[in-house]
Amino acid sequence: MPLYDTHCHLDFAAFDNDREEVVAAAQAKGVERFMLLGVAAQQWPKLIDVCQQFSAEFRFSLGLHPYFIEQHEVEHIKTLADCFESLSGIAQSQCKAIGEIGLDATCAKPELQLSLLNKQLGLATDYQLPVILHHRKTLDELLKAVRNAGIERGVVHAFSGSYEQANAWVEQGFKLGVGGTITYLRAKKTRDAITRIGVEHLVLETDAPDMPVCGYQGQRNEPQRVKLILDSLAELLQESPNELSSVLWQNSLALFN
Ligand SMILES: [Zn+2]
Repeated sequence: MPLYDTHCHLDFAAFDNDREEVVAAAQAKGVERFMLLGVAAQQWPKLIDVCQQFSAEFRFSLGLHPYFIEQHEVEHIKTLADCFESLSGIAQSQCKAIGEIGLDATCAKPELQLSLLNKQLGLATDYQLPVILHHRKTLDELLKAVRNAGIERGVVHAFSGSYEQANAWVEQGFKLGVGGTITYLRAKKTRDAITRIGVEHLVLETDAPDMPVCGYQGQRNEPQRVKLILDSLAELLQESPNELSSVLWQNSLALFN
């Protein structure tokens, strides 16, 4: 029952003291692959470094996350393109997406956010890579940008919308990232959308060290809890975790092939 944590930040300082143990604990729960996310130009070198240390299990994306908007410069788009051009060897084979990019209504500089997003969507087309999207109160605005850019492959990280919104993203060719949110009974709208949309459109993710799974609030989140998210999803869909995990694994591989 292989599991793919398609969204985790294992390069972050929160894991500097015990990264190997965290990976081993996840592997013991069946997590065989980890997608790490680019968030800022200053962070990419360490991200790539960490990924090379775990070359068999780790994949990564590169991008400018709206949450770190204060660190971004317009020139970082050029740095990003240069980075894609200069990747070689193992790192080149591990780089599978552009992300995490998007729009966040709670962060500053909405115009700069949109302009960086559009430029990065352009790079996704140039390099034929899927995109990993961050949203906060911006799901519809984001879909508009993605449609305008003609992007038809990617994942909506931490999907938390209505069934109608889920449908619109799926029609655009996107997978929905299913994380800790569905483990909370109060997340009715998200649980309903995820249950109805069909497992062929889903991938699993933790967003570790953030987004704690129900029962682990206040603790550092870890990729091993992707197993708890799988179990929650299996319960919602009334399917066996084994069968479910093989479909989700295939979805993830197809997206980040
Ligand atoms: Zn993230």
